[in-house]
Amino acid sequence: MVIGFIGLGAMGRPMAANLAAAAPTRVWNRTVAVAHAHAEAHGTEAVEDLADLGVCDVIATCLPTTTEVAAVAETLAPLLSPGTTWIDHTSGDPAASRDLAARLAERGVDYLDAPISGGTDGAEAGTLTVMLGGEPAVVDRVSWYLDVVGRTIVLLGPIGAGHATKVVTNAMLATTLLAAAEGLVALERLGVSTSVALEVVNGSAGRSYVTERLFPERIVTREFPNTFAMPLLAKDVRLAGEVLAEADVEGPVLALVQQLTDAAADQLGPDADHSALVQLVERAAGVELT
Ligand code: NDP
Repeated sequence: MVIGFIGLGAMGRPMAANLAAAAPTRVWNRTVAVAHAHAEAHGTEAVEDLADLGVCDVIATCLPTTTEVAAVAETLAPLLSPGTTWIDHTSGDPAASRDLAARLAERGVDYLDAPISGGTDGAEAGTLTVMLGGEPAVVDRVSWYLDVVGRTIVLLGPIGAGHATKVVTNAMLATTLLAAAEGLVALERLGVSTSVALEVVNGSAGRSYVTERLFPERIVTREFPNTFAMPLLAKDVRLAGEVLAEADVEGPVLALVQQLTDAAADQLGPDADHSALVQLVERAAGVELT
């Protein structure tokens, strides 16, 4: 089994490194130097031409959006053999991915949407949550691969179900982040420091990943390390809006969160971590969380 891994960003880099210990792994990255550095550090094989992935049994993609995945597939799909499995870890667009899967199926290539959760730490540790959409038999065929990257691996339904679940989850993250920021900024202005407030919040029903991890680790420390970029979160919130529309569900909360995350992505720029969203709430109130 040969793996071809496409997209060595914050998530793809550690995932491909772990996979290389399980099977021969070829890596392709838009910025070629990143692929060569990966090969040197992790024993993968860097390829500069997508055509060199044509022999792979498994193609994995971890790219920003489905647009980039489809562009890569345009070049690569005609070169793949029937029976190849395409595992897409991108937090992608369910509808566009169904179209892509149909085009791949014409070549006899099986597509699974397999977006991930767990951050760069989870990618390094191989403990990601993998949200699958596709056929059970295809999932079974690549279970050896999924076991390398993930710990919680759930088949949610047909193609697109994994992406839909992922973007809805991230819309919940954005909503919680904004709500917690507003509340904690208010408390700070009233003289309650965030570090102290969090001791109570995290022992109460208002606690969440945001209050247990993001605020103490990234925000109160003023580190805001960019491991998950703000524009990627805004993209997921937009896609979640499309999921609600497809399901014919009204989403007034999500619509507002989408406005706020789109504006934040514009204001903060491409290199800001999603946690920097809180800085905008701080600035508007003229306080810094401590
Ligand atoms: P990064 O921005 O760190 O990496 C993006 C990767 O895509 C890079 O390899 C980049 O190549 C490549 N790329 C960008 N544009 C193109 C293009 N036009 N054609 C080909 N390759 C391109 O992203 P992440 O690794 O953070 O995220 C990848 C996916 O995983 C996203 O969908 C994201 O939403 C999702 N995700 C991210 C998490 C995180 O914590 N970071 C957690 C869970 C999911 P280059 O090196 O040339 O820029």
